[in-house]
Amino acid sequence: MPGPRVRFAPSPSGYLHIGGARTALFNWLWARSQGGTFVLRIEDSDQERSSLDSVRAILDAMRWLGLDWDEGPEVGGGSGPYFQSERKARYREAADTLIRSGHAFRCYCTKDELDRARADLKARDPKAQFVYPGTCRDRQGEPDLPFVVRFRAPRSGATEFVDKVFGPVSTPNDVQQDFVIVRSDGFPLYNLGCVVDDHDMGITLVARGRDHIGNTPQQVLLYQAFGWSVPELAHLPMMLSPKGEKLSKRHASVSVSDYRQRGYTPMGVLNYLVRFGWSHGDQEIFTRDELVRLFSWERVNKSDGKFDEKKFADVAFEQLKQPRLMPDDEYRAAVRPFLGERGLDPVDDERLARALPTIRERAHTLVEAAHALDYYFRDPPELDEAARSKCLTPQAAPHLQAVAEWLAAVEPFDVPTLDAGFAALVKQRGLEMKHVAQPVRVALTGRTASPPLFEVAAVLGRQSTVDRLLRAAEIARSG
Ligand code: GLU
Repeated sequence: MPGPRVRFAPSPSGYLHIGGARTALFNWLWARSQGGTFVLRIEDSDQERSSLDSVRAILDAMRWLGLDWDEGPEVGGGSGPYFQSERKARYREAADTLIRSGHAFRCYCTKDELDRARADLKARDPKAQFVYPGTCRDRQGEPDLPFVVRFRAPRSGATEFVDKVFGPVSTPNDVQQDFVIVRSDGFPLYNLGCVVDDHDMGITLVARGRDHIGNTPQQVLLYQAFGWSVPELAHLPMMLSPKGEKLSKRHASVSVSDYRQRGYTPMGVLNYLVRFGWSHGDQEIFTRDELVRLFSWERVNKSDGKFDEKKFADVAFEQLKQPRLMPDDEYRAAVRPFLGERGLDPVDDERLARALPTIRERAHTLVEAAHALDYYFRDPPELDEAARSKCLTPQAAPHLQAVAEWLAAVEPFDVPTLDAGFAALVKQRGLEMKHVAQPVRVALTGRTASPPLFEVAAVLGRQSTVDRLLRAAEIARSG
């Protein structure tokens, strides 16, 4: 049996929202775990709110997250086009089919007429909910006037479906009005476009945010009217603001690309997002392969979650820190662009490989990692002014000189030998460690905080270490 066909159907009116990325992730995981097909469809039928720039931003963010699609923009596929704006003729044809079969009708009511009817109702009963009164439902003749197409909603019975997450859902049809499926300018409304596309694209399971569960009865009615089978449905819990509102940019960064710029990794982001609806025992962080292997609908729950920026940062850090989750070679490749932003690319890969273990434990993001790695690749290192005036003093100059001379000759140039030799040298000069260690640190890194001194020296190598100390001694002498 061929695997499931699932889809992600963003509307390109900005960027890839992290809530959208969560939905894309669950679909992707299901496709990948079942040998299925992940379709990307761009719902740009509302052209005033769509832009090519945001299509590009969405595709970029999807690729960055590693949520590759099997069919869709730029990759093609047998069910295209994958932009709704290119499928208008198909929607019109589908609407005509419904008109012919009596499931839909043309409605010539103007906006003014409907507004007036709404105002009249409100005047009589301020609490009443206005529904389309069915004016054109049984109208004869087709005047040469603008019209919308409305679905002829049943007035009795109930529309039912079983959701994989929310269970059985039943909506009485008497709350349903004759909803619009095609606007007067010929554009399809979301429900029609979505149903026609999901059917034509052979989608077998529709997974999307719970905010769409209210549209689903209308979509089920459309499937029934077309005589098509309804795909499986799975609505996913919402990602809410800390106060429980719909999460928006008023509350936090909600664009995937913001997290990319902040130096989060794709798996750091995905590990946080997957929590919104899914878990596996107490395991906190997963590799991509583990997620694919472990994901199942049985483990998807319906509780909404609150977005917590601090927790997100902790998850991202945990993922970045552990070599099991972020192997060294991937880390090196990921941090290079951030070194590049600091004017430090290309860097010597071998030195980067040696430097990385010294900073991994401390860097919460790739931005912090690039900052922490900076002095390994900048010669001379950038000298922090406060560090200079505090530590590179005339009193420190002879000690720096002596350490440089010792390091120029000591054998072997490795961490245990240097640690032991340095302790002996400090003692021999009748000094305390803290008086010498800080000037040496500033000499090597330009900063007052760094990984252990001789781990840094071992990465820099003898020549660069000695050069930095001699240079610092000179600066220290001139105070
Ligand atoms: N374009 C809709 C959205 O972005 C898609 C909803 C769906 O998946 O059906 O919310």
